Amino acid sequence: MNSSYQSLHTHTLYCDGTKSVEDMIKAAIEKGGSSLGFSEHSDVLFDPDYSMTIEDTPVYIDDVRKMQKKYDGEFDVFLGLEVDYFTDYVPSDLDYIIGSVHHVFYKGEFITVDGSAGHVKFITKEHFKGNFYKMAEVYYETLADIINKTNADIVAHFDLVAKHNVDNKLFDDKNHRYVKAALAAMDSILEKCKLFEVNTGAMFRLGNPEPYPSAFLLKELCKRGGEVILSSDSHKPESLYYKFDEVLELVKACGFKHIKRLTKDGFIDVPINN
Ligand SMILES: [Zn+2]
Ligand SMILES: [Zn+2]
Repeated sequence: MNSSYQSLHTHTLYCDGTKSVEDMIKAAIEKGGSSLGFSEHSDVLFDPDYSMTIEDTPVYIDDVRKMQKKYDGEFDVFLGLEVDYFTDYVPSDLDYIIGSVHHVFYKGEFITVDGSAGHVKFITKEHFKGNFYKMAEVYYETLADIINKTNADIVAHFDLVAKHNVDNKLFDDKNHRYVKAALAAMDSILEKCKLFEVNTGAMFRLGNPEPYPSAFLLKELCKRGGEVILSSDSHKPESLYYKFDEVLELVKACGFKHIKRLTKDGFIDVPINN
């Protein structure tokens, strides 16, 4: 494990994570990492199970800021937030924002697209006449607007809608409708934000062979001048910096010459060696 690794996508007990802020820092140090950013889910009124409440938000901010001071010089801690598309409340004074879409609003209803495989099949049948391409189009149309909505610095899990589509189990990810919808969202986002995370969360949780975005989409992102930063979207210590070595090779193979890293002076380029 390379000691320079950083992941800015970390969840704790303030939302759907399993450990405290400090426990995650200690685990990251044990794993030989040098930096961690915290990114609890912002308040989503219609889906309170996984998001942090507005009341808890200042407590979270205070906790992370204290840890930032405590570990200063030893380990870099950053304060972020994973801001959902459907959030009204975003506090100021954050080090960065990750923008994400977990739901779509379609025909008057909020629909979660980030569920189990069974749930994804169910919502597709229930709301999109069983057509995964229609579901994906609505997801990417929503995501296309993520920067306008959240003012994010980093785009989260770009192709989340393909979470359960390993080996094209649900749909053909080279189908023109799917590719067109994904690339239109990418182009729209790139007008305002260049930085996308390469997220290994589902590689850890589901054993998926590829990160978000997939290699195909990473190549397209590289061609279009996008930038990447690695993240493990960790909800537990075991997943911190998960498969970063392997994914860095993939990022390089997709054409990227450097990845981004957050420092006290902002985002910098870190060349991919060898
Ligand atoms: Zn997320
Ligand atoms: Zn997350």
